Amino acid sequence: MKSECDEKKYITEHEFDEHIAIVKDWTDTFIHDTGDAPTYYIRTFGCQQNDRDSELAAGILEEMGFRPGASPEASDVVLFNTCSVRANADNRFYGHLGSLKPIRKGGRPLIGVFGCMMEQDIHVNAVKRTFNYVDFILGAGTARVLPYALSQTLLSDRTKRNTIDLTDWRGLGDDTSLPVWRADPHRALVTIMTGCNNFCSYCIVPHTRGREQSRSYEMIVEESRRAVACGAKDIMLLGQNVNSYGNDLRRRGEVDAPTFATLLREISHIEGLWVVRYMTSHPKDLSDELIEVIRREPRIESHIHLPLQSGSDRVLRRMNRRYDSAHYLNLVRKLRSARDGITITTDLIVGFPGETEEDFEATLRVMEEAQFDAAFTFLYSPRVGTPAADWYEESHEEIVRKRFQRLVEYQNECSLASNKKLEGQVVEVLVDGFSRRDETILSGRTHDDRLVNFSGLLTSSFTCQECSPNEVVVPHEVNRGDVVQVLIESAGIYSLDGKLIQDN
Ligand code: SF4
Repeated sequence: MKSECDEKKYITEHEFDEHIAIVKDWTDTFIHDTGDAPTYYIRTFGCQQNDRDSELAAGILEEMGFRPGASPEASDVVLFNTCSVRANADNRFYGHLGSLKPIRKGGRPLIGVFGCMMEQDIHVNAVKRTFNYVDFILGAGTARVLPYALSQTLLSDRTKRNTIDLTDWRGLGDDTSLPVWRADPHRALVTIMTGCNNFCSYCIVPHTRGREQSRSYEMIVEESRRAVACGAKDIMLLGQNVNSYGNDLRRRGEVDAPTFATLLREISHIEGLWVVRYMTSHPKDLSDELIEVIRREPRIESHIHLPLQSGSDRVLRRMNRRYDSAHYLNLVRKLRSARDGITITTDLIVGFPGETEEDFEATLRVMEEAQFDAAFTFLYSPRVGTPAADWYEESHEEIVRKRFQRLVEYQNECSLASNKKLEGQVVEVLVDGFSRRDETILSGRTHDDRLVNFSGLLTSSFTCQECSPNEVVVPHEVNRGDVVQVLIESAGIYSLDGKLIQDN
């Protein structure tokens, strides 16, 4: 595990520009020689913070002259953005990395790995030892180091089997000035803070992403305004615990540093925005001030994701969550009375080490009372380097699987009942494009973050004319990024089906 005290090396803004220029020279030569731009492919694992980091990496690659490739096999650069939160993501990453070995010929594709797993020595060493065709590795949140990694790799003999390890490198400067490439321009992810101070006993994040660091209020607002000017209707503010935004600034003497509630209100006032979302809210830090802002500001989403993890006070103590079930349920009551119809979703872990039948029943009781609209349910996954991993006993796996099944069945009933309430109603939907399952159906999300599939015609891919001047926007038809009215005809556990209501 790398520590906060490990010596870091820094890329200045000037060096960042210099390395961009070196790589750009290389891409210009490539285009001159082949007639085509070199291509990139990024595979992202894990949370929306990783999605955001990949958007920055893509933006920087585009700036240097690369264009998106259709697949890893068809690309000149393949990047993996890794996640260390669950064993499942580790295993999938190694599987994908292994599958590149047969297609790597004469140093193509160039392969880079970054993200949370590369903050842990165990994974860094595993990549260097077992997958020595990886060209370079970087840590988490290090988009500013990417041009340096590429310039070093392109200048080296890539047929030699050695991985350039840049995991100790960081970039100086705020992300606001970085280019960003969004797959969905009508949705913008905006990081408000990185790291976490909470040290939940099962979680690796504070060890990989470091302590809380809030970005400047002005830069967050500027980035959000710019995103809306470029066509974003939906902004997601990101942090491991958004409710503690500004605490680190206040500790460092900025006594008037704004709270998250103030920031959220300010963003919600940006003209042209349809909804502002935020992720994730730690229940111990959800303030009355924030609930009041949620009550007053209609552009703040009618949804909150509030991870419960367990309904047992004994387990919550062992998880180091620093709230109890009574506090949590009190928040649920306050939120439901502050915003009529607000959806509340949660995370639940089943099989935390030492969980008894009584603890599990306590979780079910809190679920009954809270009536979550949806839940992400997880089997406990031990993470090396966390206290809980030392308490793990595999012998309980069968019991835990049965509990998991019961919990999922109950939550499915609640999710279905929540969605059924919308049958026969007309709801507003922000259009994302074609449904993943069926290219004759469109899909999008409601203000309260429900997935809606509906019939209709998608006529073009709307983006900002300044950013994408070649896009054709067809008026009076449905475009990605439109907000449309949909009549909900039927509800399922995970989504709603409906039909488009025409304006005329
Ligand atoms: S709040 Fe807990 S679960 Fe969330 S990132 Fe921090 S330590 Fe991990």
